[in-house]
Amino acid sequence: MNLKYYRAPDLIKRVLKEIHEYRQPVTFMEVCGSHTMAIGHWGLRKLLPENIRLISGPGCPVCVTPASVIDELIKLKDITIATFGDLIRVPGSDQTLEHARALGADIRTVYSPLEALELSQKRETVFVGIGFETTIPGIAYTILEAGRQNQDNFSVLPLFKLIPPALNALLIDDEVEIDGFILPGHVSAVIGTQAYDFIPQKFGIGGVVTGFEPLDIVLGIKKMIEQINKPQIINEYSRIVTTEGNMAAKATISEVFSIGNAVWRGLGEIPDSGLDIRTEYSQFDALRKYDIQITNIEGNTACRCSSVLKGKIMPFDCPLFAEICTPNNPVGPCMVSSEGSCAAYYKYEK
Ligand code: SF4
Repeated sequence: MNLKYYRAPDLIKRVLKEIHEYRQPVTFMEVCGSHTMAIGHWGLRKLLPENIRLISGPGCPVCVTPASVIDELIKLKDITIATFGDLIRVPGSDQTLEHARALGADIRTVYSPLEALELSQKRETVFVGIGFETTIPGIAYTILEAGRQNQDNFSVLPLFKLIPPALNALLIDDEVEIDGFILPGHVSAVIGTQAYDFIPQKFGIGGVVTGFEPLDIVLGIKKMIEQINKPQIINEYSRIVTTEGNMAAKATISEVFSIGNAVWRGLGEIPDSGLDIRTEYSQFDALRKYDIQITNIEGNTACRCSSVLKGKIMPFDCPLFAEICTPNNPVGPCMVSSEGSCAAYYKYEK
């Protein structure tokens, strides 16, 4: 890919000039934490006219993991817990996994679920399965591989989240005002643009799937403006995303998981927004193996992450932002995660 093209200042300026000709006040939500980071990194928010407001959404898997998950993991004894890095610093009700590790718990950070499967050859291991549609195929593959290896010591805690039902939940919330979505590029590569067709059909607003380079993002915003009176889903990331998505990845997901409800931090329980491990693979289901209950507790009540994740407030509207809550001393998950809105605003827009 020619990154120079997608970062060319003259092209970006030309698109921004067209965006500045639009005068109506509009609010667009960038659903994905990677978009929030990219917008901050390239300083794009400051280059937009004041009438175009970008708000961040719930597309950070660590941020939407309920505090009860941390509490339940800390209760597990004499097993290895393998997780992606950011989760170990997320506060539960009293402790983080990092604290628990300092007190002797065997908590490992891994870069792939296959690493967790390897750990299970030596010791009973639970892999903490967080992530959206992008991450899920690799975890489904790992469960299939555990089956092939007949590996009894391995299980996955299924905490997966699906983006389209979360967008539906946001749009039926009367307090959330959005004129369109900047839709996630990576998730859309798996599910395809057709997964969002319900948005214009049911809610009369549109969305643009776009990539993460500055030209991708400004073109996405320009397309959002162009379709505002004729809402539709536009694919501005066709070098990666198709209408149908990745059929092989979707088939692997369906083989291992069935649709279920999921508890989102900040958004509560959303019907059909998660995945359950199918009974054929129940020996790898940590929920059943360890009788884990995921509830909707929020952890530190002073943290306003739940409002940030719905775009109801901006990170700097939280009284703790940058004063008490910083990346070195995070009070809530939105400041912990490398894709969290509060972390992005702290790093780039403070
Ligand atoms: S600044 Fe910290 S305390 Fe405030 S909403 Fe963000 S993560 Fe929560």
